[in-house]
Amino acid sequence: MIIQNYINGQFQDPIQDQWLDNYCPANGEVYGRIPNSSSADVENAYIAAKSAFPSWSQTSLEARSRILIKISELLESNLEKFAEAESRDNGKPISLAKSVDIPRAASNFRFFGNAITQFASESHESIGSNAINYTLRQAIGVVGCISPWNLPLYLFTWKIAPALAAGNCVIAKPSEVTPLTAYLLGEICTQAGLPNGVLNIVHGLGTTTGQAIIEHPNIKAISFTGGTATGAHIARVAAPMFKKLSLELGGKNPNIIFADCDYKDMLETSVRSSFANQGQICLCGSRIFVEASIYEKFKIDFVEKVKQLKVGHPSNDETNIGALVSKPHLEKVMEFIDIAKNEDGKILCGGNKVTVKGFEDGYYLEPTVIEVHNDECRVNQEEIFGPVVTIMPFHSEDEVLQMANKVKYGLSATLWTNNLKRTMRMSNQLHAGIIWVNTWMLRDLRTPFGGVKASGVGREGGFEALRFFTEAKNVCIKY
Ligand code: NAD
Repeated sequence: MIIQNYINGQFQDPIQDQWLDNYCPANGEVYGRIPNSSSADVENAYIAAKSAFPSWSQTSLEARSRILIKISELLESNLEKFAEAESRDNGKPISLAKSVDIPRAASNFRFFGNAITQFASESHESIGSNAINYTLRQAIGVVGCISPWNLPLYLFTWKIAPALAAGNCVIAKPSEVTPLTAYLLGEICTQAGLPNGVLNIVHGLGTTTGQAIIEHPNIKAISFTGGTATGAHIARVAAPMFKKLSLELGGKNPNIIFADCDYKDMLETSVRSSFANQGQICLCGSRIFVEASIYEKFKIDFVEKVKQLKVGHPSNDETNIGALVSKPHLEKVMEFIDIAKNEDGKILCGGNKVTVKGFEDGYYLEPTVIEVHNDECRVNQEEIFGPVVTIMPFHSEDEVLQMANKVKYGLSATLWTNNLKRTMRMSNQLHAGIIWVNTWMLRDLRTPFGGVKASGVGREGGFEALRFFTEAKNVCIKY
């Protein structure tokens, strides 16, 4: 399988003929190659985007909306093909790709196709000065969208859809680890009638292709989702050029369980919030804190349920835990399990590589639960981003609040309680951009999405995304 760049509506090889191998996590084999694009490819994409911009930014909202909704419909009618590609490229269970990843990518286009027709700007009458102010929301120009490997098409389109809806032209780079569905998207955009040059998809390493995007002086905004260290690097490069930046970064999210919760619901959701997508979701509740009075019971019940999860080939409908995304990532996650052992953590279940019959070289790992005795240990502080969670008891609201907030990240937090006053107190004080109470990852695309502290800067979702992808210009008229 040969993946090409999609520039000016055409599929093209990289100018310098540099390629990367694309691995299948389920069996460890190379099954394709992708461009490692250089700054010359990014420049070509920029030229195409720049020349498409005047016309696209002046295209009526209804016409833009129609095209985005058409892309959504085409994704829906190609669901099987996209889900298979996503599962093969990423290692995630096919059931997850079919039920979550691809439907959500389609929803992203439908949502922003509709949202742009509802996006209103403000006006203010300056009473006493005989003046009226109105605010224009103008497309920025050419913008860059860079996304990670964990939810490949889901997050790629979460950026592209609002950028296009707002009238920008886009240069987008998916993760080099999972390029396949982004490649397939190009064809769909052409079929939907997206004019040439409006969306350009360039493939390659972060340090070559990604770097060329963030360094480009005329790419005026960067929407980035990925690791915190990469986000900090992007901020350093972009700041002297005054680019607009949206950074959605890492997380180490607490899952806080009080004794007064609905136990059954909490238990089932906690298994999902710990291990969905092999624990490779920035929102996973990777630090579980349980009120002491139910800690021992929870420990037994949780471990029993985790042991029932089936690790297997991603294409098997029975599989709950597929393959981790890459060999280096598997090795990194396993290193953390060793670190936990050295730090006096107790492995309650899992901790070992799994050999799946017929796919012995795949990157499989048992879902792992580690009991820790000190919330400051490394496995409780650093993002592991795999099927590994820590658990520990707490004795008071103040104690758990302090432990929950004592990490550098602040993306999401989950609370399990039926006490309304406690819910309000905790929600106000937790360091996180997203709080779920008695649920997890229930998403409404209108809501602001993003983190605080090392989890990022800015918010995506709903009108927040459309505000990011536009420049506000105030016009004041004296009459
Ligand atoms: P990563 O930072 O390694 O890579 C993300 C993207 O950035 C890739 O496309 C990569 O090629 C590119 N990149 C790398 N170096 C670059 C550079 N110098 N210039 C420009 N682009 C560059 O992250 P990853 O390993 O792909 O993803 C995992 C991370 O993403 C985790 O930390 C996870 O928490 C985070 N994440 C955050 C969210 C969120 O919404 N906050 C969502 C999903 C994943």
